[in-house]
Amino acid sequence: MALIDISPPLSEAIAVWPGDVPLARQVALSLEEGHTIALSSVSTTVHVGAHVDAPNHYVVGGQDVASRSLHYYYGPCQVIQVDLPRGARILPEHVQEPILAPRVLFRTGSFPDPTQWNNDFNSLSSELVDHVHAAGGILIGIDTPSVDLFDDKVLEAHHALARHDMANLEGVVLGHVEPGLYTLIALPLALVGADASPVRAVLAPPVV
Ligand SMILES: [Zn+2]
Repeated sequence: MALIDISPPLSEAIAVWPGDVPLARQVALSLEEGHTIALSSVSTTVHVGAHVDAPNHYVVGGQDVASRSLHYYYGPCQVIQVDLPRGARILPEHVQEPILAPRVLFRTGSFPDPTQWNNDFNSLSSELVDHVHAAGGILIGIDTPSVDLFDDKVLEAHHALARHDMANLEGVVLGHVEPGLYTLIALPLALVGADASPVRAVLAPPVV
């Protein structure tokens, strides 16, 4: 079975939100230095690379990531290409095709290099979240670090997702993915209390 990896590699080179905790790996033991095993640990923001937010990231009293139902993150998925100016929100009119799956990933190309931060990425709009929800959507993903714009203070897309009890998937890499139908697998870790979790997001062939 051919799996398409849509997760950026997690190394110290990956860019994180300005001011957030970068990824660092500490090596405690190494075979090269004569230890019997290699052993390392990692410190990082939980919003590193491809990740899902939990409702407690943006709603007081919202669920933590360990409490989220896994059904959001596994199943039929549609990749949709959108073309709009950098720094703009995706509106329903930018979506040229019908929504055919409950999980929708938007390919914007507006955050092209996961190791090179840029502020002018695209995001969702609350109207788009409402539109996807009306079509039966339960998860929306995007190839940028956030479902809201970089300088947004209101977080309209995050709150629209919360209103509909939908899930997000941020930071995926879609430049090598043809628009169309797939099966998404992007399970978060059961990090108790956490406001997000990194995921290994992959696309498998659609189940027919
Ligand atoms: Zn996030």
